[in-house]
Order: sequence, then C-alpha cells, then structure tokens
Amino acid sequence: MTSLTGRCMCGALRYRFDPAGAIADYCHCKKCQRWSGAPVTAWAQVPVGQFEILAGTPKAFQSSPLYQRHFCDDCGSPVYMSGGETIGIMLGTVDDPSSLVPGGHGWTSDRVSWLKIDDDLPCWPEDAPHDR
Ligand SMILES: [Zn+2]
Ligand SMILES: [Zn+2]
Repeated sequence: MTSLTGRCMCGALRYRFDPAGAIADYCHCKKCQRWSGAPVTAWAQVPVGQFEILAGTPKAFQSSPLYQRHFCDDCGSPVYMSGGETIGIMLGTVDDPSSLVPGGHGWTSDRVSWLKIDDDLPCWPEDAPHDR
C-alpha cells in the first residue's frame, strides 16, 4: 500500500492514510467556513480503517450530532472529521495532495457570492450524494 501522510501546522499531530478509493471534493458549507476560516475547504474521504494517527492527540469538537471535527491542540490547525463510515481529511494538511483531485462542489447553497466556481465539476446545493 502506498500511503499518504499529513500533519498540522506545528507538526505535533501527524497521520497517514491509504488513499485507495478516496473521494475528494470541495465543501462550501458555513460550518466548514467557520471551522477553517477559509471561504471554501477541500476534503478527501477514506474509509475509517484506512486512516491512522501517527503522533499527537487531536482535540475534538462535536460539530453536529453525528460528526466530530479534530484539530491540533497546540497550533489549532483543523485536520480531520469523523463520525460516519469515512474519515474526512482536510486536503490542505496532506503533505502532497496532488493525487487527490476534487470531483465536485458540495453545499454551494452556502457559497460566498464573490467566490466564482470556474470548472466543470458537479455542484450540489447541500451534501454531495456520497455524503448522504
Ligand atoms: Zn499543531
Ligand atoms: Zn462543509
């Protein structure tokens, strides 16, 4: 297996995952905007068993009844999300995310008006179909 690695900004929190079957997409939802501080986030989702923490103990925030968002307690980097059958990994924390190409835009109903989507990827007003 060829695994990919990633970490928070300070490096205290490190992980690796097997990208086989990963689904990558953008999320424009307001929760992700607040959590990341950015107008849009990009994620890779992999089955829970393909993700492993290598170092550090993330702090978790219960952002909805089902989902927890995990971040570095030292530097504050938002790193991943858990609670469903997959782990959602913030693409910006992956050391080399170039192989994880986003395939669509979720939650475009929350898109910031000045952020123009200029690609031909599918847009979903709420969750991407694979998130339901
Ligand atoms: Zn950190
Ligand atoms: Zn979101």
